[in-house]
Amino acid sequence: MTLHVEHVDCVVIGAGVVGLAVSRALALAGREVLVLEAESAIGTQTSARNSEVIHAGIYYPAGSLKAKLCVQGKAMLYRYCEERGVAHLRCGKLLVATTEAQFAQLDAIQHKAAANGVDDLVRLSAAQARAMEPNLQCLAALHSPSTGIVDSHGLMLSLLGDVENAGGILALNSPLEQASCQSDGILLTAVDGTRMLARTVVNAAGHHAPVLASRFEGLPACHVPTAYYTKGNYFTLAGRAPFSRLIYPVPEAAGLGVHLTLDLGGQAKFGPDVQWVDRFDDCVVDAARGDAFYAEIRKYWPDLADGALVPGYAGVRPKISAPGQDAADFWIEGPAQHGVAGLGNLFGIESPGLTSSLAIGEWVSAML
Ligand SMILES: Cc1cc2nc3c(=O)[nH]c(=O)nc-3n(C[C@H](O)[C@H](O)[C@H](O)COP(=O)(O)OP(=O)(O)OC[C@H]3O[C@@H](n4cnc5c(N)ncnc54)[C@H](O)[C@@H]3O)c2cc1C
Repeated sequence: MTLHVEHVDCVVIGAGVVGLAVSRALALAGREVLVLEAESAIGTQTSARNSEVIHAGIYYPAGSLKAKLCVQGKAMLYRYCEERGVAHLRCGKLLVATTEAQFAQLDAIQHKAAANGVDDLVRLSAAQARAMEPNLQCLAALHSPSTGIVDSHGLMLSLLGDVENAGGILALNSPLEQASCQSDGILLTAVDGTRMLARTVVNAAGHHAPVLASRFEGLPACHVPTAYYTKGNYFTLAGRAPFSRLIYPVPEAAGLGVHLTLDLGGQAKFGPDVQWVDRFDDCVVDAARGDAFYAEIRKYWPDLADGALVPGYAGVRPKISAPGQDAADFWIEGPAQHGVAGLGNLFGIESPGLTSSLAIGEWVSAML
């Protein structure tokens, strides 16, 4: 008996914001696209557990994919949200120095930003910063007017609409189990045993991308990174937000410091912090970690009242760098790197992955 094998043009694994943006770019380029999503809804993993910030592209090493795709992605995202009515706000952000020793870091960040093509940062004195945000305490600041926030679920629904309007299909509850890279295409086997032969496959499975790639027969193991996880815990502020812009301290080793972000409803939240964990689905907020938030936040907002922080939610960063190592760049590989025709792998798509999503989509579509 011969098992029937369906033939498809492109299969994208994962319907997070990045998988959907890649699917959209492929579908708009005229390709036939099938999106396989393990869960019963789109965007329930990292894409549902982030700060929803449209990053300016300030912090990433010059020439890195993160720098390039964040700056391009930011411009594309604002344009897309305006055209498609996706809720967003170009609220701006203040990056604050609370000691004189941090002035040099502000200078360095401004130079790094300029090298990435972000030339709209404005250095502010303490008085200028306070004129913008009267509750803020700092000695100097950088104002980033192009930082904003976006409704990530509205964005994903809009991307899915584009995919479907261009003829693409989403299959929910369809976890992929493994693949075999053959001369006539990539043979995919889903957990339920369904098999299909695809000309192009994009592995955008977020946390699962490395383990899934390790089950792709024919893909050399040196092209699959080790996955690491850092949890970011958020605490929400009971009551009215004290600021109208996002407020960030100068960055720490593995994250951006305990910063204040706003959602589109005006609710303020602090975080995410950095907690190395063993599991990608360890998303419970440890209330005790809130104790450390108070001292950090009071460096720039001394009026924070005792007991004002309430455990919020947590997200886990899909890391491919170990504790103590510099943050890795996005690891996006196609046939030119790993030698497998038709295969694209996306690893380590941590922040600024949401901001970069549309640019990643075009990059991957062009790569394949
Ligand atoms: C705490 C935190 C804060 C962040 N803040 C920001 C921010 O403010 N701005 C910003 O730009 N970025 C931010 N990010 C990064 C951003 O959230 C991610 O880069 C982005 O959501 C990644 O999207 P994705 O589609 O790659 O992954 P995911 O959203 O994780 O999607 C992967 C999908 O693949 C599916 N899947 C997995 N395995 C399989 C399988 N075998 N078969 C089929 N489907 C499968 C999953 O169910 C999931 O839906 C943050 C991240 C974290 C953790």
